[in-house]
Amino acid sequence: AMVPLLASGYGNPSGAHRLAREANRVLDDARETMAAALGADPGEIVFTAGGTEADNLAITGVLNRQRSTGRPTAVPVCSAVEHHAVLEPVEHRGGAVLAVGADGIVDLDELATTLERLHAAGGVAVVSVMLANNETGIIQPIDRVVEVVRDRAPDALVHTDAVQALCWVDVAEATAGVDLISVSAHKFGGPKGVGALVVRDGLALDPLFKGGGQERERRGGTQNVAGIAAMAVAAAETVAERPTAVPRVSALRDRLADGIRSRVDGVVETGVTGTDRSTKTANLCHLCFEGIESEALLFLLEKEDIMASAASSCASGAMEPSHVLAAMGYDRDLAFGSLRLSLGYGTTEADIDAALAAVPAAVERLRQRGS
Ligand code: PLP
Repeated sequence: AMVPLLASGYGNPSGAHRLAREANRVLDDARETMAAALGADPGEIVFTAGGTEADNLAITGVLNRQRSTGRPTAVPVCSAVEHHAVLEPVEHRGGAVLAVGADGIVDLDELATTLERLHAAGGVAVVSVMLANNETGIIQPIDRVVEVVRDRAPDALVHTDAVQALCWVDVAEATAGVDLISVSAHKFGGPKGVGALVVRDGLALDPLFKGGGQERERRGGTQNVAGIAAMAVAAAETVAERPTAVPRVSALRDRLADGIRSRVDGVVETGVTGTDRSTKTANLCHLCFEGIESEALLFLLEKEDIMASAASSCASGAMEPSHVLAAMGYDRDLAFGSLRLSLGYGTTEADIDAALAAVPAAVERLRQRGS
């Protein structure tokens, strides 16, 4: 989808001549496809340069508009397990961060009392709770979050970061009552640096980028036409494959997680009680191993061609345990031994066999040498 547009479809969609009109038609088609995938109207799709921008636009754009139009004290609210693209704009503007339980799910009673208090104090601008978590795959009950917000803070908008969800969850159905929805192409097979924010019809937000008035004054800047076209193809294919992919990948993930747990002692599978993985996306196997450090584990796994990650980030030289695991009450040692194995639509039984051979052996080796 991208190559012909990069090679010869170089018109600017805001222009007037034939090449420009062709580029604009590409955007119109992509808008329709994205709208169908997300359960939105084409006019509700705002193309962005990825998930981070979509999240920032949802929080800051709504907040700025509300504060300048009669709600000067309204604040944003989000859950403690959000991606930094939500957490940081919320914290930067003095917002409230909601606790989650040990299961990683937002505490609906705390949501209700917090919203009631903030609604009475100065108002709530926007409540942001992600659909699926990027580290653990834990899915939030967005429909129930919407109910609580409408009940306790009826002036607030609801945003969900669905960046990790499209491959694994029927986003259109899960977000039917939500006002603002973020997605990012590279999480469902599209290119990096392109995404979208659904802004329900009639809702107002201030653009983060002012300029050419593109995207109906919601996001100035010439659109990434080739990237957007590719995102739409990836979204359509994802939605078409999802019904068969989810049970297949879920069975592979279960074999992987059960297999590691049966071969290794001292391991916790995050967000799973027993083997009930019903609150998790099909692709994620997230484990915390006692007595090892994930950095060393990742190094050994990479040597076996297994590209995994740990749910921790390296900030200013010091390893910090994941804020998501901290919010779920994991102690530092266990959080430092975390491993995130992600599957995709293309994962095979042979990939699982390879991981089942490599992960227990690597953990064993590290434990023998004292991490
Ligand atoms: N939100 C979530 C849940 C993510 O996982 C990511 C990226 O990993 C983002 C937002 C940011 O998206 P992008 O990389 O497109 O800026």
